[in-house]
Amino acid sequence: MSIVNEVKNTIDEKEKLIESVNQKIWEFAELAFQETKSMNLYLDLFKKEGFEVKTNLANIPTAFQASYGNGYPIIAILGEFDALPGLSQKSGIDEKSELVSGGSGHGCGHNSLGAASFGAVLAIKEYMSKNNLSGTVRFLGCPAEESGYAKTFLSRDGILDDVDAAFTWHSSDMNRAWSVGSLANLSVGFSFYGKTSHAAAAPHLGRSALDSAEIMSVGVNYLREHIIPDARVHYAYEDVGGSAPNVVQSTARVHYYIRAPKNYQVQEIFERVKDIAKGAALICGTETSYEIYAGVSDFIPNRTLTTLLHESMVEVGAPEFSEEDFKLANKFYNTLNQGDKNTVLNQLTTIYGHEKAKEIIEKSLHTEIEPLVFSNTHLSGSTDVGDISYVVPTAQMTISTIALGTPHHTWQMTAQGNTSIALKGVKTAAASMALATIKLLNDNDLIEKSKEDLKLDTNGEYICPIPSDLKPKLDQYGE
Ligand SMILES: [Zn+2]
Repeated sequence: MSIVNEVKNTIDEKEKLIESVNQKIWEFAELAFQETKSMNLYLDLFKKEGFEVKTNLANIPTAFQASYGNGYPIIAILGEFDALPGLSQKSGIDEKSELVSGGSGHGCGHNSLGAASFGAVLAIKEYMSKNNLSGTVRFLGCPAEESGYAKTFLSRDGILDDVDAAFTWHSSDMNRAWSVGSLANLSVGFSFYGKTSHAAAAPHLGRSALDSAEIMSVGVNYLREHIIPDARVHYAYEDVGGSAPNVVQSTARVHYYIRAPKNYQVQEIFERVKDIAKGAALICGTETSYEIYAGVSDFIPNRTLTTLLHESMVEVGAPEFSEEDFKLANKFYNTLNQGDKNTVLNQLTTIYGHEKAKEIIEKSLHTEIEPLVFSNTHLSGSTDVGDISYVVPTAQMTISTIALGTPHHTWQMTAQGNTSIALKGVKTAAASMALATIKLLNDNDLIEKSKEDLKLDTNGEYICPIPSDLKPKLDQYGE
């Protein structure tokens, strides 16, 4: 039997188990660093399947790994499982309707992300044991992707140092190997310290921290014109020094994200933003300091591994959706406004031409594998897979689990994460990653080639964007 058929058979046999993982984690909907139930579910299942588990990676209570096999090469499949606050939604319902009032939900499909990676390692294990294939496959349980960037800590602390290659994927409305970069990002809090006084009776005695924060914002907004156009700088006020207009504000804090296509570009802009903060403090007679909260590197799609993953996707084929799936997807497609629908049409037209694009849109689901094209462009968001991609050759893909145009981090995305559409995407993702991994385990030259690619891309250098003593914000959503 061909490898692809062996892999597909195992995944079909394990379908109920994979489906229950997808569903349970969708129901748990645990927030960053609180994913205890989700982790325990995985740990129990992996132990039953004969995997060796290790927990508390990089001192993060919900970071874990489960390994099967012996020696090298070691191939990691990354699995995320964190949810988002405020995105609770009933399954399969095409209008906003909370499942749990004010509850969290899997508005980025990370329940499916982990479930497919779980399915992939089970299929790889089965193949390895049947065919006496040596090497190790490892599920790397990666918490807090949405808020906390746990993978940066895992990369910084050497958790992947013995790993030879890594694969992962993400729920999406398109089937495509991920051949572009993503933005590096630094999350920094700037604080200002002034002096309170009565704002009417003795304003001359006060020094306003809030004034400094406002001047800093003005300065940064002027800076925007003189940085590379692909960079993104945005901020939110975390502390405005109270709500009384008659008290000069003695404290203020602004939270910045500084994003750019490459780590070093973020660092250059960060230096200039620091200067602006210093200037704003000088103008107002206040003091300033900063604290790095978190950071991620840009994603480097490894050429050799991305090509291998793409070929595996083609061999596995796109998810085979039913008429019912198309009908359900169409309902969600119709929750989009005309502008968003036009964007979908434009994107598909760029890839397939107008006629074919219209044909795809009629089904409301992507049923093709997008051709692989490498380019120097990047997505406008950030992912902590970026840091993994600096320390280990890494490839990822997106697989169709949602209606065309469904925006991430929305109730529509939560609503579709536990449907038969999602399950078909999960099985396809699992099979594609399993096939790519088995091919890699069988071909040491490919592993060496992927390592050469990484050296070319990074000069063999990984400068972690976060300080060596920074601890993850485990309690960001309370205890
Ligand atoms: Zn996500």
